[in-house]
Amino acid sequence: MTTAKCRTTETPSRIYRSAVCTLHFALCILFALHVMADEPKTSRVVIGVHGGIGVEREQMTPELAAKLRAALEESLRAGRAALEREGATGLDGVEAAIRVLEDSPLFNAGKGAVFTHEGRNELDASIMEGKTLRAGAIASVTIIKNPITAARAVMEKSKHVLLVGRGAEVFATRAGLEIVDPSYFWTEPRWRDIQKRWEQEAAGKAGEGARYVNPLLPKSAFGTVGAVALDRDGNVAAGTSTGGMTNKAFGRVGDSPIIGAGTYADNAGAAVSCTGHGEFFIRWSVAHEVNALIKHAGMKLEDAAHDVIQRQLKPAGGEGGLIALDRHGRFTAEFNTSGMYRGSITDDGVVRVALYDD
Ligand code: ASP
Repeated sequence: MTTAKCRTTETPSRIYRSAVCTLHFALCILFALHVMADEPKTSRVVIGVHGGIGVEREQMTPELAAKLRAALEESLRAGRAALEREGATGLDGVEAAIRVLEDSPLFNAGKGAVFTHEGRNELDASIMEGKTLRAGAIASVTIIKNPITAARAVMEKSKHVLLVGRGAEVFATRAGLEIVDPSYFWTEPRWRDIQKRWEQEAAGKAGEGARYVNPLLPKSAFGTVGAVALDRDGNVAAGTSTGGMTNKAFGRVGDSPIIGAGTYADNAGAAVSCTGHGEFFIRWSVAHEVNALIKHAGMKLEDAAHDVIQRQLKPAGGEGGLIALDRHGRFTAEFNTSGMYRGSITDDGVVRVALYDD
């Protein structure tokens, strides 16, 4: 009787305990899955680059696509190699990756810079370190071979963030950077682009800074380059370099050298480099906005990038895109145009390069 009583009272309690145990176990599994989903993958992206918006897909040729892919890959490998050197920081990765793209005539930065309305090449660049929020930038320079290196020198060797024009050039010369004659930046395709613009303007078709794609030469107004990097200590960095927009006014400065607009890096958020119609990127403080959505609103990296590029800029008519990388090695590329030349490399050396929405 007693036994039977005990059984009848113990059985429900056992069932209850085992149900609680099962539920607890299930919750633990769910929690672990959730944590794993949020955890960085074993291979982290250590360098991401972009080469601007580029040309519409219909204008791309297989030859140009192959050259672009090869240049992006070379840049990624150079950035990763720089990061692997003893004591390297994210800044080393960013600078090395961008210098490769600046030295290539394929991109609107350094050697391949577009022409202003006056037929000159005026270059802008910026760089930022996510651990310290230190930053450097230069704008409207005409004789500095690698503007990204000058931006870094401003950050490391001056007490300022942004130097422009002659002041930036004198500073870079004194800092021992490579100086070239302005004719170094002259390239046949870009020259033909600006001539075509002048013809259109003479015929009353194009406004200053308006987007234009020369159907004969697959180059567009947007071809800025940028890089984001993650070093071994978990610090991010970002940089951007450009010739600006084809046919821009003498002295016009876009978003690329503006910290918070074209470039931003913050370990607590992300490293961001932008490309697109600079006037919009300045007004929307795009790079900083992405960082702020992650840091203050707790958004995921790709959601923050999507929000700014697709929900904020696109309806306003701001064409462009960005790349972003966080301290866990999560990388995203977002654009509201038909394409954006871009790529990434992981710490184990896996390279991914894409030109359009593929
Ligand atoms: N954002 C650059 C500028 O407005 C142009 C570009 O990204 O191609 O100067």
